[in-house]
Amino acid sequence: MDTKLSQGTICVQAGYESGNGRPRQIPIIQSTTFKYDTSEDMTRLFDLEDNGYFYTRLQNPTNDMVAARIAALEGGVAGMLTSSGQAANFFACFNICEAGDHMISTASIYGGTFNLFGATFKKMGIDVTFVDQDADEKDLEAAFRPNTKLVFGETLSNPGVRILDIEKFARLAHSHGVPLIVDNTFPTPINCRPFEWGADIVTHSTTKYMDGQGVQVGGAIVDSGRFDWNAYADKFPGLCTPDPTYHGITYTEKFGKLAYITKATSQLMRDFGAIQSPQNAFYLGLGLQTLDVRVKRHNQSALRIARWLQEQPEIKWVDFPELEGNPEKEKQLKYMPDGTCGVMAFALDGDRAFVSRFMNSLRLATIETHVADCYTCILHPAMHTHRQLTDAQLAEAGIDPAQLRFSVGLEDPEDIIKDLRQAIDAAKK
Ligand SMILES: *Cc1c(COP(=O)(O)O)cnc(C)c1O
Repeated sequence: MDTKLSQGTICVQAGYESGNGRPRQIPIIQSTTFKYDTSEDMTRLFDLEDNGYFYTRLQNPTNDMVAARIAALEGGVAGMLTSSGQAANFFACFNICEAGDHMISTASIYGGTFNLFGATFKKMGIDVTFVDQDADEKDLEAAFRPNTKLVFGETLSNPGVRILDIEKFARLAHSHGVPLIVDNTFPTPINCRPFEWGADIVTHSTTKYMDGQGVQVGGAIVDSGRFDWNAYADKFPGLCTPDPTYHGITYTEKFGKLAYITKATSQLMRDFGAIQSPQNAFYLGLGLQTLDVRVKRHNQSALRIARWLQEQPEIKWVDFPELEGNPEKEKQLKYMPDGTCGVMAFALDGDRAFVSRFMNSLRLATIETHVADCYTCILHPAMHTHRQLTDAQLAEAGIDPAQLRFSVGLEDPEDIIKDLRQAIDAAKK
C-alpha cells in the first residue's frame, strides 16, 4: 500500500508485518545471540556486508520492529532504540561530536540532559554552549565556532513547556553546515513532526508518553536521512572517512541515507551496549499502538483543566502554551496546532504551608517527580526539585514559591477537576 497513512494507523501497524500463521503481535525475540549455518555467513555480518543479527548488545529484531514504528511516525528513514532517553541524547550527539569538538544547545532542556551536556560532555572534552532559544538569530550566530558539530534543542521543553522555533534553529544550523537534533519527547510525533520543519535527527525518552503506562525506561533516535554529511566531510570524519574497526568501510559511502544510524548501532552500541531489552521494546510497541488515541485525550483534558484552573480565584496564574496570552501561543499554533502535551505549571495564591495542605489533600493526583504518562501527578519545585533554594533565589531562577508542576494523565478530566477543587477547599481549613 503506497497511500500515505495517518498517524493513528501507523501507531497500530507500522514496523511489523505478520506472515501466514505467524504471531499477530510483534514477537519478543528474547535471545542474546543468533545462529548461522556457515562460518562465511557470520564473517559477512562482522564485515557489515550482510544485514543480520548476531548479538543483542548491538541489535535485536524486536527492538528494530519497534524502532521502525517510531521512525514511521516521525517520517524518518531509520531508527534505533536505546536503554533510556539519556542514552538516546548521548548517542545522538556523540555519534558526530567528540573530544575537541563543540556543540550548541538551548538552555531550556530537561535537567538530566543539561547535566549530560554541561558536566559529563565537558569531562569527555566536548564543549557545549547553552543559548537562550528565544534570542535573535543574530545573537545566536555568535555561538558558532569552526569546530561546532551540531545544534540541540527540545521541541517542547521539560518541564518549562517552552516551544522551540524549529525553523529558526534549522536555518541557523544548516547555514553553518551542521545538523539540528531535537528531543521530541513531550509533543511526540502525534503533536509535532520536527522533520517537516527542517530538523535532521529526532530523539525521544520513550519512558514518557510513548510507553505511556509507566512500565519501561527507554529511548529512541530517528534520522531523517536528509543531512548531507558528505557536503561537510571535513566536519564529520567519523561518517565520511574509513572506520578501521570495520576493515575500513566508510559509512556514508556504504550506507548512504542509513549512515548515521548504522554508525550509531555498529560502533556506539557495540562499545557502550546501552540497548533496550527486547521485553521493554515489546512494552513500548504496545504503548505506541494507542499513542494517537492517548495523546489526543491528554491534549483535550489538559486544555480543559488549564482553562478551569484559570477561572479559580485561588489560582494566581496558569502557564500552558494553548492558553490565550501565553508567550508560546504563536509558536504553538504553528508547530503543535492540535495540542502540546499534558504538562503545565500553575501557582496557588498562598504560602508554602497552604501549598502543602493542598497537595496532601489530593486524592487522584499523586505526588511524584515523573511527568507525561497515564497518571495525573504533581510536584512542588520549591519543596522538591529546587528545595535547596531560598525564596529570593527561587525568584531569581524565575520560580514562584507557590508554583506547581502538573501533569494531566488519562483519568476523566471532570474527576481531576473535582479532586483539585476539594483539595483547594481542604487547604483553606
Ligand atoms: C525524561 C526525559 C529525558 C531522559 O529520559 P530517560 O528515559 O529518563 O533517560 C530526556 N529528555 C526529555 C525531554 C525528557 O522528558
